[in-house]
Amino acid sequence: LGLSFKCADIGMQCGFETKAENREELMKNIATHAKEAHNITAIAPDLMMKVTAAIKQA
Ligand SMILES: [Zn+2]
Repeated sequence: LGLSFKCADIGMQCGFETKAENREELMKNIATHAKEAHNITAIAPDLMMKVTAAIKQA
C-alpha cells in the first residue's frame, strides 16, 4: 500500500511520477521535484489543492 502522484495529472507537460508509503514522504518528493524541474519553491494553496486531488492510492 502506498500513494502515487503524476505531474501530468495536474496538467504539467511532464513525465514525472513518484510513489511513497505515506503522504508526508510523497509531498517531500513532490516539493523536491517542483523546485528542481519547475522552479516552484513554494507550493501555493491552489496548486496544493490540485496536487492533493491528483494523489492516488498505489
Ligand atoms: Zn513535473
